[in-house]
Amino acid sequence: MRGKVALVGVGKIARDQHVPALAASPDWELAATVSRSGRVEGVEAFADFATFLAARPDVGMVSLCMPPAPRFAYAEAALGAGRHVMLEKPPGATLAEVQALAALAQAGGLTLYATWHSRMARAVAAARAWLAPRRILRAHVTWREDVRHWHPGQDWVFEPGGMGVFDPGINALSILTHVLPAPVHVTGAVLDYPANRQTPIAARIDFTGNVSADFDWRQEGPQTWDMDFDTDAGAMSLRHGGNELWVDGARVSGSDSIMGEYPALYARMAGLVAAGTSEIDLAPMIHVADAMMLGRREVVAPFDF
Ligand code: NAP
Repeated sequence: MRGKVALVGVGKIARDQHVPALAASPDWELAATVSRSGRVEGVEAFADFATFLAARPDVGMVSLCMPPAPRFAYAEAALGAGRHVMLEKPPGATLAEVQALAALAQAGGLTLYATWHSRMARAVAAARAWLAPRRILRAHVTWREDVRHWHPGQDWVFEPGGMGVFDPGINALSILTHVLPAPVHVTGAVLDYPANRQTPIAARIDFTGNVSADFDWRQEGPQTWDMDFDTDAGAMSLRHGGNELWVDGARVSGSDSIMGEYPALYARMAGLVAAGTSEIDLAPMIHVADAMMLGRREVVAPFDF
């Protein structure tokens, strides 16, 4: 029998990815939604989370799809009510609040899964295996996309806790921290803040180990989600957000579709619940926090949607 799940925060990512992934899931059945404005046809809809928790004790798992800043209160309430919890990325607005949730889940014997959808991209596992025996001489991440396309009108990305360009950049960091054979850490960053906004629209980051990253949210036209690695035994690249693997300039495998990532997250959640464990890897978010702590601030042109 499939486990019952509630989607909370029915916005862009819930509609684009979670609803189709759940519709095809052998493990989960979408049993309820909680959202002030959105709903999914044919599924019981609640406008308020406390009302949902009281009315549907049969729904054992909640998948939280709202932005990071308001998410903690929902996760805390869900764990307090004995529900397993899946968190969209980034898992919270601060590191400490995610650690608090981890402690709550452990105390309650519940599963907390801090998801990183980009780690489920098609070529990531192969890239990790390819890099494992090699020495990295240089690595560079180029993550440039159009915020107007991916976050149309979403002012929260530029509010405190919204993370700005690190909202997509943390996807790159979730891949980087997974495929590198040894950890690196941030040594410096330059952060471009629009004059009228609270979070950066672009960032250039240096890490130990000759690793660097270039994130920019102002790219129109073709989008770039690439990672290039030079090693002591050849060059490897990940393209299309971890979905294509290239070795020494030749395409080895992959696809430019990201539609396998969310089904893989829900399958992983089913495995974690069955095993009675949690998965909370904060490594990508630590890099963001460090870049924000070390970053030199530059003021750039105001940005409006
Ligand atoms: P969104 O559409 O702006 O927001 C999702 C939903 O969250 C909204 O529909 C809203 O639901 C709820 N929400 C917003 N502010 C809230 C608040 N203060 N309190 C309670 N609920 C609130 O955002 P999104 O693009 O789906 O992004 C949500 C999360 O998914 C982010 O962490 C993002 O990084 C991640 N994500 C986004 C994308 C993408 O392409 N956009 C891709 C991968 C992951 P109601 O108003 O109906 O309650």
